Amino acid sequence: MDVNHRLALIQLERAARMLQVSDLPRTTRMQPHVAQPPERLIYYTNHRLSQVPQLKSLPPRLVRGIHLAAMVFPFKVNSYVLDNLIDWGAAPDDPMFRLVFPHPDMLQDGDREVLDDLLERGDEVAIAAEVQRIRADMNPHSSDQIVNVPLFEGASLEGVQHKYDETALFFAKQGQTCHSYCSFCFRWPQFVDSAVDRFEARDGERLYAYLRTRRDITDVLLTGGDPFVMSSRRLADYLEPLLAPEFSHVTNIRIGTKALSYWPQRFYVGAEAEELNRLLVRVADSGKQVAVMAHVNHWRELTPEPVHRAVEALRRSGAVIRTQSPVLRHVNDDVAVWRRNWRDQVAMGMIPYYMFVERDTGANHYFRISLDRALAIYQAAAAAVSGICRTARGPVMSAGPGKIHVLGRLAIGNDDYFVLSFLQARRKEWLHRPFLAKYSADAAWINELVPPEGEDGFFFDRPYAELLAQRSGEHRLEAEEVGHE
Ligand code: SF4
Repeated sequence: MDVNHRLALIQLERAARMLQVSDLPRTTRMQPHVAQPPERLIYYTNHRLSQVPQLKSLPPRLVRGIHLAAMVFPFKVNSYVLDNLIDWGAAPDDPMFRLVFPHPDMLQDGDREVLDDLLERGDEVAIAAEVQRIRADMNPHSSDQIVNVPLFEGASLEGVQHKYDETALFFAKQGQTCHSYCSFCFRWPQFVDSAVDRFEARDGERLYAYLRTRRDITDVLLTGGDPFVMSSRRLADYLEPLLAPEFSHVTNIRIGTKALSYWPQRFYVGAEAEELNRLLVRVADSGKQVAVMAHVNHWRELTPEPVHRAVEALRRSGAVIRTQSPVLRHVNDDVAVWRRNWRDQVAMGMIPYYMFVERDTGANHYFRISLDRALAIYQAAAAAVSGICRTARGPVMSAGPGKIHVLGRLAIGNDDYFVLSFLQARRKEWLHRPFLAKYSADAAWINELVPPEGEDGFFFDRPYAELLAQRSGEHRLEAEEVGHE
């Protein structure tokens, strides 16, 4: 059985298990150890979608379509975003509206009709099955994330991914929700109730044990979801052990977040913010860098005054803020948007970090743009800002083998090519080794590109397939051993 068959089998097994669990999106139920909003913040999820006051101003047909899409795509928004970031006069075409709300076009035509019909009939069992089928078709674990989970002491290291040598990702159980569930997000399986597909760790003990054996890991990235939904005390429980001398090799603590622009008060209002600030100062004083990896998709997120106060508070605590976003149709596929995004970020003291290519997961057909267009947007936007705004690398595909940078286009004779290079890779020897792919006006991901004539694959294809075969074999063996216990 070849690697692709094995992976397909694993995915089928997982999809089958998904069908056996209740998988409605999580509600607003209060979870323990979450940071409490210091002011009244109202959350709406799929189940309370009809209570979003502003939706009443939209055409009923569109609202029904939004409801249909929300049956498949996890949805969540808070009143700060509704009141401050969406231009309701411009909805449904407002980019922030498109970013936050599920849209009927996110469903394929046939799927939308089937769901519409089932909803009309009120057949809840059939709806649940159909929703699971559609989700299973949306590549829930893009870029072979499953094999990123390391095996440690004979078992999967749950809640940890270790893809690149220097960086370990940690998914604390209490941080596996977000302020909004972006329909392009490759973390979307984290936001539905199918626990079999969620990466999460109940505590940090096995992470620490792993780090003791891996002196080559310099960065721990707390990710989710959004780790800042955790209470500051809980966050401290995870971070403070890392300040011990035995973890001196971990020099960078990164925290991925959307809170900066969707809940900025988290960083400067009330006792929770004060405790967070003290924690970040302790980490910085220990000699480690705190890097807040902020998801900023559009410059409009940075215009409200609370965001400026949040940035100031974080910077005062010694944190560095780096920003990233994919380039997304309907939201930010525009040179002027990126130009202003980067300029405003730098003016506020943040560092533009990545312009990603939309991943091959979720509502990909709705958000995707071609690599050619993404490259044109990146190049024009970068040319329109000063050097200190050009710290963002892009466009970059965070794909299975690694982070593949689209450097540009090159004509050789009568042929046109993309020039690509790995910024990060599963194998060090793949890094910064320029390679060519035939130019395509439509391709939007690495698997839609082909190598130049005469080459039977990209240089990394075979070693990556071997690596996948080895890792998936190890995981399968572990699953079988667990099953025999
Ligand atoms: S992790 Fe980022 S991209 Fe994913 S849902 Fe949250 S804000 Fe959106």
